Amino acid sequence: MADGHLFVDGAYRTGGSGASHDVVNPADGAVVATATLASPQDVDDAVVAAARAQRGWGAATPGERSSALAALASVMADRAEEYAQVETSQTGKPIKLTREFDVPGSIDNVSFYSGAARNLEGRASAEYDGAHTSVVRREPVGVIGSIAPWNYPLQMAIWKVMPAIAAGNAIVLKPAELTPLTALMLAEDCRTAGIPDGVVNVVTGAGRVAGEALLAHPTVRMVSFTGSTPVGQRVMQVAAGTVKRVHLELGGKAPFVVFDDADLDAAVQGAVAGSLINSGQDCTAATRAYVQRPLYDAFVQGVADVMRTVRLGLPTDPSTDLGPLVSFAQRDRVAGFVERARGYGAKVVTGGQVPGGALAAGAYYEPTLVVDAAQDSEIVQDEIFGPVLVVLPFDTDEEGIALANDTPFGLAASAWTRDVVRSMRASREIQAGCVWINDHIPIVSEMPHGGYKSSGFGKDMSQYSFDEYTQVKHVSFDITGDVRKDWHRTIFGDR
Ligand code: NAD
Repeated sequence: MADGHLFVDGAYRTGGSGASHDVVNPADGAVVATATLASPQDVDDAVVAAARAQRGWGAATPGERSSALAALASVMADRAEEYAQVETSQTGKPIKLTREFDVPGSIDNVSFYSGAARNLEGRASAEYDGAHTSVVRREPVGVIGSIAPWNYPLQMAIWKVMPAIAAGNAIVLKPAELTPLTALMLAEDCRTAGIPDGVVNVVTGAGRVAGEALLAHPTVRMVSFTGSTPVGQRVMQVAAGTVKRVHLELGGKAPFVVFDDADLDAAVQGAVAGSLINSGQDCTAATRAYVQRPLYDAFVQGVADVMRTVRLGLPTDPSTDLGPLVSFAQRDRVAGFVERARGYGAKVVTGGQVPGGALAAGAYYEPTLVVDAAQDSEIVQDEIFGPVLVVLPFDTDEEGIALANDTPFGLAASAWTRDVVRSMRASREIQAGCVWINDHIPIVSEMPHGGYKSSGFGKDMSQYSFDEYTQVKHVSFDITGDVRKDWHRTIFGDR
């Protein structure tokens, strides 16, 4: 049913515009489904349903919301293999990644929010002027509009939907055009789990049409966006028209800083895993390795050796390490970065090609290691979103940190050292929303995820996400019972 439908007010329905597009498996170009291009009227219908549903859902007790999310985790667990297969078919992710990372991570996030829903609280505070008791209420924002990218379609949908509904909001989610299917399955499972109709709605379609209709809708009080920095800028502009709260999770260009006392083998393994995860289409992927001069040559050699062992193959084959990129357009974009880098004098140590043979039918690109690129070159500064790692040397610790901070992005970073002082200094001085020490990538539901600088603001996951999805109200109770309050004299009459 996810094929060719929107999910609005607890049911699948066809889109009003009648227009649709194909969802393509990038491993072989086969069409896996048809997706509806929602019209502004479809978006309005979903927002109206959400607004109606939010009144009841916002009034449900935290315990009731928690139980519904616990039921959802169980429904999803029963369909885990189906989720993994569908996610793999629409993205080209290796099945071992969807089975062992995307799907269990998503279900864990639902379980986390089932617990977190019961821990929301305001504060009963004090009598700050002696005459009033102040109480702080934490309330839902109302209807949330969320827009998600294609790189982790299920996880991004979960990161948006769960904190929103755990806090008593209703949501209209627009997944990316390329990958709408698992978000629709999620909406369907919310209904199966007993979450009331209209609380979770999914409208598929184009960013410029369905996305902007959501951003401009006056009933939508907050927009939560994950995607590229240029589109994030556009989101802020359109949302400004109705003064919406905005939460932006944008691009990244994560540095990977290797100090000269690091465990070289661990850093090499970490760099390959951290740069190739999800074919490099990960906003926190390691993209720029800065290696202190004494380890530089051995690190480059080590990474090249391990990259050459990575098995490209069909995503459905459990032994495949690296699948295709999400689309042929994305593959060509990545190849363009590497070709231009060759043109300005960078050297490709391994990879840098579109593979032939059986893989030529898919959007594959080889794991690629680039050296001798200047810090201000495009391949070091811009988000590539492909299986490409650039390595640069540095001399002093200060220089390594300065280079790590020298892009507009600030989403994630890692530092590799066995020296506790160096690790503390690096974690303090690197400007990013997450700094790993001696690892790169692992995330947990309990901890916040979100950027500094042009990587956006606001947090997904963890208790911190409720700062985005709730609003705080001050309630002040007069405790004097006086008819004429003391402060009235400043307006009229005397004491
Ligand atoms: P994108 O910005 O092209 O699209 C993201 C979403 O925005 C899609 O659903 C798209 O339809 C929609 N969109 C496009 N134009 C729009 C408009 N004018 N108005 C409203 N919506 C619009 O990004 P993408 O290519 O799908 O995903 C890759 C990007 O996402 C990368 O930059 C990556 O770093 C980023 N990302 C960030 C995080 C994070 O947590 N910071 C996580 C995942 C992905």
